[in-house]
Amino acid sequence: MNLQERDKKYLWHPLTQHKLHPNHLPIIKAKGSILTDDKGKEYIDGIASWYTCMYGHCNPIITSKVKAQLDRLDQVVFSGFTHQPAVELSEALMEILPENQAKIFFSDNGSTSVDVAIKMALQYHFNQGEKRGKIIALEGGFHGDTFGAMSVSGLSVYNGPFEAFFIDVSRIPVPNAENIEVVKKQFQHLLQTENIAAFVFEPLVQGASAMFMYKAKYLDILIAIAHKNNVVTIADEVMTGFGKTGENFASDYLENKPDILCLSKSLTGGIAPMALTTCSQKIYDAFYADDIGKGFFHGHTYSANPLTCTAALASIELLQTKEIQQNIKRITRSHQEFDMRIKNHSKVASTRQLGIIYALDLQVKMERYGNLRDQLFKHFMDNGVFLRPLGNTIYILAPFVITDNQLNKMYDVIESLLDTL
Ligand SMILES: *Cc1c(COP(=O)(O)O)cnc(C)c1O
Repeated sequence: MNLQERDKKYLWHPLTQHKLHPNHLPIIKAKGSILTDDKGKEYIDGIASWYTCMYGHCNPIITSKVKAQLDRLDQVVFSGFTHQPAVELSEALMEILPENQAKIFFSDNGSTSVDVAIKMALQYHFNQGEKRGKIIALEGGFHGDTFGAMSVSGLSVYNGPFEAFFIDVSRIPVPNAENIEVVKKQFQHLLQTENIAAFVFEPLVQGASAMFMYKAKYLDILIAIAHKNNVVTIADEVMTGFGKTGENFASDYLENKPDILCLSKSLTGGIAPMALTTCSQKIYDAFYADDIGKGFFHGHTYSANPLTCTAALASIELLQTKEIQQNIKRITRSHQEFDMRIKNHSKVASTRQLGIIYALDLQVKMERYGNLRDQLFKHFMDNGVFLRPLGNTIYILAPFVITDNQLNKMYDVIESLLDTL
């Protein structure tokens, strides 16, 4: 039996209805921007394996450092102990994080980083004797699949069975030029009438909402109001973090820096899962007390694993190299040129871009959405490009090391698709 057949015997895949999608393609190796399947067919990884492998798959600078660390210190409890990879990672992060960030808390994935942020915000108020239990989030946001993260997510199509168990959340529209006055009023009204603990958002780009983009200045207005009311602001930068928007963090575009940032996905360059919740001194100080109960009693067994910290440190060093910074500019320009060529195509409804994140909406009828995704996906895979369309949206978020040839091939495959619609 081949891998695909053996897979079916015991494995249950994420986000999958197995009756409709029984087959999973075996990938046997990956290098740079290329995935290779069990038949030797190659695919350009157009979404960097969910925005993780931004420095290229099996990047030798990252893997060699992890290999060396593997023989030095594999794992140790992070309560009561510390180690060099965690300390060095914290120092490297402080160099690039928004200037108000002061402390770093470890967990294992994007969802847990959001759960940690929500718990921090709730306890921040609790420790100061304030009864605040409600959270404001943006419509269309996605923050993960654990209970806290799921509760604040606005994309609820598949959350039906769990909704009765969610934490208390009020949702407001994503602010823009047209609705800002209305949204501002709604926001202020919630702050006045409810016990709001925190405001959670994906800054500037809502990834799972088909890379929906909005402007920093409108988010800035809401953050300023939140801060005036001592509401903790949480920027979920799990997707936007580490260079993809053209700045190190989407929050770099904001005047008013969020109190808390959530980071994961490309943090370790795709080597292994890890996440961070970082916060300002003000948040940390609310937990710092003689009373042990005011401490933050949240912890994961693998917190600050030395191997993943090593991968993260190597990734951050890579991000800051001239080569990667130039690549970010090159890909950004390349997408802009592609956009000029494509945006007036009769099958393109709209396009958007921030840094190396590029998305285009197809001009197709709603009733075709159902099988459209599978049709698009098949077209891309047949042509050696791995892209995961969302609804009628095609988006690109490729590794920083993607070559011009690979970019052009991806653009060509997208253009050839338009002609078949
Ligand atoms: C992917 C994602 C998450 C969830 O991260 P996981 O590692 O999949 O748990 C949370 N927030 C945003 C913005 C994401 O893109």
